[in-house]
Amino acid sequence: MTESTSIPLKVIENPEDNSFYSGTLPKGCRHCVKGGKLVLFITGLCPQRCFYCPVSEEKFAKDRIFANEREITTTEELIDEAKLIDATGAGITGGDPLTVPKRCKEYIEILKKTFGKDFHTHLYTPMKLVKRETLKLLYDAGLDEIRFHPDLDNDEMWDRIKLATEFDWDIGLEIPCLPDKEEQTKKLMDYAKDFVTFINLNELEFSDTTVSHYKMSEHNYTPKNNTSYGVAGSAELARELIRYNKEKELGLTVYFCPSRLKDKTQMGNRMKRRANNVKLPGDIVTSEGTLIRGIVYLKELTPGFSYKKKIEAAQSDSDKKAALMSKLQKTKDEIADVFKKRAVTIDDKKFRIIISKKFVEKNVQKLKLMKLVPAVVEEYPSHDSLELEIEIL
Ligand code: SF4
Repeated sequence: MTESTSIPLKVIENPEDNSFYSGTLPKGCRHCVKGGKLVLFITGLCPQRCFYCPVSEEKFAKDRIFANEREITTTEELIDEAKLIDATGAGITGGDPLTVPKRCKEYIEILKKTFGKDFHTHLYTPMKLVKRETLKLLYDAGLDEIRFHPDLDNDEMWDRIKLATEFDWDIGLEIPCLPDKEEQTKKLMDYAKDFVTFINLNELEFSDTTVSHYKMSEHNYTPKNNTSYGVAGSAELARELIRYNKEKELGLTVYFCPSRLKDKTQMGNRMKRRANNVKLPGDIVTSEGTLIRGIVYLKELTPGFSYKKKIEAAQSDSDKKAALMSKLQKTKDEIADVFKKRAVTIDDKKFRIIISKKFVEKNVQKLKLMKLVPAVVEEYPSHDSLELEIEIL
């Protein structure tokens, strides 16, 4: 239950990422902005069909699990990824996590068992599958914070939020801030104020999924400027909702989470943490948490047309994979022999050799004579080593 007089109502602005809020930052968000939250996409299955759904086609309605950018199938991989970002908590998302309640329970329990009871877990869910037994299962597993995502146009299931008040955890709402749903969002705040302590308003964004499948254009939304995926009017409505919360003394914390915060602050901080744990000797870690490295490619697997497809094909064909790995091993030995260079790593995910930028720049001609392709690459330290820039030398 919320005490309307107990939270600060001053609006706190963060110009670095354009976020703002009034009240007390939810615990889950505090871990998240520091990059300490593992994003656990526990399933793509979901009984809802929100028109603004940002989940990609690769994931939506598919029962796949991702820990950050890494697809996982075991709890060992989950723990490994959490360790690589020095995680202090996990945000469980989807899809609708409640389509796989036993998996949620198992994963929360293993995270708590491995990292201790202070490892903060929060979970987002739409309302369709919310029932007392499922909430109890999650609570007993150790879930610290639950965030409901109710349908703004249909209040039939809103009363299920009340069920969560039977348990001693933090309860909030998390919805996109839809510029044409001011009245409905205010109605939800009026309704939920006695059961939740915060409402998180995500900046509404265009994404490939929303544009192609859910026809956001039918809602007449427009981009807020030429350089952003954010929708015009989303931040303005969030400010109006902060004003409304104050005027009506609803006692909620209202937090506006813009796309810039997710891309820059949250992801950037998470990448910095991961970079420090995965960097190889010779890697340069930039202030944004990306890695600059020297790369030696085999001629047949040089970035260009169909590069991703070629890698995927090699990964799924054991003979091809073995042949490439043997070639890379020979190349590594040759480099060690010719240059007396020890810090040489074979990357078995992308079938390439990682050395330092300084080394490849110094030995361009010699490497070319060996029929290799030297390059300087800037990439994320993520599991998929997503490249930002590839400069073939
Ligand atoms: S509840 Fe979430 S995952 Fe499901 S359709 Fe809505 S936005 Fe997408």
